[in-house]
Amino acid sequence: MADLKSKLDSLLGKGKVQFNRDLADLTTLKVAARARYFFEAKTREELILAKRASLATGLEMVIVGGGSNLVFAHQLQDKLIVKNTYRYRKIINQSRKTIDILFSSGYPFSQIVRETIARGYAGFEYHLGLPGSLGGAVYMNSKWTKPLTAVGDNLLRIFLVDKKGRVMEKPKTYLRLSYGYSYLQDDGSLLLEAVFRLKKTTPSLLKQRAATALAYRLQTQPKGVLTSGCFFKNPANLSAGYLIDRAGLKGIRQGAFVVSPSHANFIVNLGGGKGSDLLNLIKLVKKRVYDKFGINLVEEVVIV
Ligand SMILES: Cc1cc2nc3c(=O)[nH]c(=O)nc-3n(C[C@H](O)[C@H](O)[C@H](O)COP(=O)(O)OP(=O)(O)OC[C@H]3O[C@@H](n4cnc5c(N)ncnc54)[C@H](O)[C@@H]3O)c2cc1C
Repeated sequence: MADLKSKLDSLLGKGKVQFNRDLADLTTLKVAARARYFFEAKTREELILAKRASLATGLEMVIVGGGSNLVFAHQLQDKLIVKNTYRYRKIINQSRKTIDILFSSGYPFSQIVRETIARGYAGFEYHLGLPGSLGGAVYMNSKWTKPLTAVGDNLLRIFLVDKKGRVMEKPKTYLRLSYGYSYLQDDGSLLLEAVFRLKKTTPSLLKQRAATALAYRLQTQPKGVLTSGCFFKNPANLSAGYLIDRAGLKGIRQGAFVVSPSHANFIVNLGGGKGSDLLNLIKLVKKRVYDKFGINLVEEVVIV
């Protein structure tokens, strides 16, 4: 382990890697966890270095954006946990009707939404209230249902570091976007930046759309609690929340984790929850839904 520490120091800079770092604050569900190796990447160069350091050491790299769709519930000894705080944006091109803007993957998504609404650039307004970073939002192709819209809808191209550590530019088609899916979930690459083409319109129209979406969000999602949002994917044409509710699981608890009594697809941490308890609750929910409906629920939240 001493060897690995000094190797990481030489690859990422002396004193930049933290050892045995508490991770509870890195995820919105705040599961108690510790990273053996932790690095904060504040720039494009540091993200690229981190990916290459993981390849050189054999440690699996886990990139954390806002941590709003990610939990740490297993052992992390063989992982390099990288918090992405790379913030950058640049106007690439514009015409009378559209503007092309590049955003870095560590850019907070709420800031992107607010900034584009204020300038009258349409494309992100329905996502007001979506937590996390741009990187996580592209990785998940995060979505909104009223109207059906996804973060990748207006995407033009991306820059990434592939699984071999090479920096590349790729067109939108590379991501094979669908509802809740991008190819980043399978190709082992790290998103650096994404370029979007947004339509120019009036801020007042965008504010109106955003306010309607936010009002619906506030009506339907539990507030002021520790969660990762919807925990399970909706099976085809069905609602995971409905199935969990009908299986009588609202309010069911393991340790500090409880199935939200107000929205059955939200798991809430009442405080200090441990990964083992969360895994037990997930197992229980899946088993009870399977026993009642014969349906296998699949986690939407990434469990590391
Ligand atoms: C209260 C609440 C409401 C939510 N509402 C919605 C909603 O309306 N719609 C919706 O779709 N989701 C929703 N979510 C889920 C979540 O907020 C989104 O999926 C969000 O876009 C995830 O972004 P993040 O930066 O937090 O990702 P993280 O949780 O940090 O990461 C998620 C995954 O993406 C990977 N990743 C992150 N950055 C990169 C990168 N740069 N390159 C490659 N991989 C990367 C991570 O390794 C991880 O596997 C909600 C969550 C909460 C807590």
